[in-house]
Amino acid sequence: MTHLLSKSKYIRGLQCERALWLDVHEPRLARYTAEQMRRFDRGRDFEYAFKAQFPDGIDLSAELGRSVDLYSARTAQLLDGIDQSPLTSHLSPLTLFEAGFQYDDVLVLADVVCQREDGSLDIYEVKSGTTLSDTYRRDAALQHYVISHCRRIHSFSIVYNGVDGENGVNGQGGRFMIIDLTVEFAAEGDRIAANIAEMKTIVRATAEPDTPTGQHCLTPYACPYQHHCQQGVRQLSLFG
Ligand code: SF4
Repeated sequence: MTHLLSKSKYIRGLQCERALWLDVHEPRLARYTAEQMRRFDRGRDFEYAFKAQFPDGIDLSAELGRSVDLYSARTAQLLDGIDQSPLTSHLSPLTLFEAGFQYDDVLVLADVVCQREDGSLDIYEVKSGTTLSDTYRRDAALQHYVISHCRRIHSFSIVYNGVDGENGVNGQGGRFMIIDLTVEFAAEGDRIAANIAEMKTIVRATAEPDTPTGQHCLTPYACPYQHHCQQGVRQLSLFG
């Protein structure tokens, strides 16, 4: 099943409609700094450390790789018990890594999904930052919106990188801080649906939006299309 938006594109769209359009139509124009790439790697290391707390977890990315449009169907097979392979038959509850869910043309891959005996899900979104930022909340709220239209959610939590002195879990020296935001996210459905509708219109447009550069190019993330957008500014100043 194909999709129009993903979690990362949604967050990009909240920052700038032009960046969203470029992400979909001209992603080759993105330029990431070495520090941004290192930050991605640190985030992955933290995520792997949390997933190691679930030794029976099944990693869909190991089976499906970059074929993202296959994830939601495969996830449904596993959660519905259709898969009878020795890999899953002894597992109860079932734990999936990178489980895919699609609704409203949005595909999300959830870091850790644990299926309870009654079929409902405990979901953990892993973030390597040391504070619970608004961007983390918006990202996870989108996932809650999509998944709640596909399955019954028992709990939805963000896991972040606790600092010394905070109480953590699993004797990890306070490292994995788990905050249950199920109630907060359940109240955000209407706003998220409106955002998605607006972003789908942007993505379907054939012309690049002419959004001017400004402070939003740096917040909450340094936009990877600054070089592209500033080219236009330089040309204007040359001939203006
Ligand atoms: S550089 Fe600024 S205007 Fe251009 S796409 Fe990025 S956020 Fe938008």
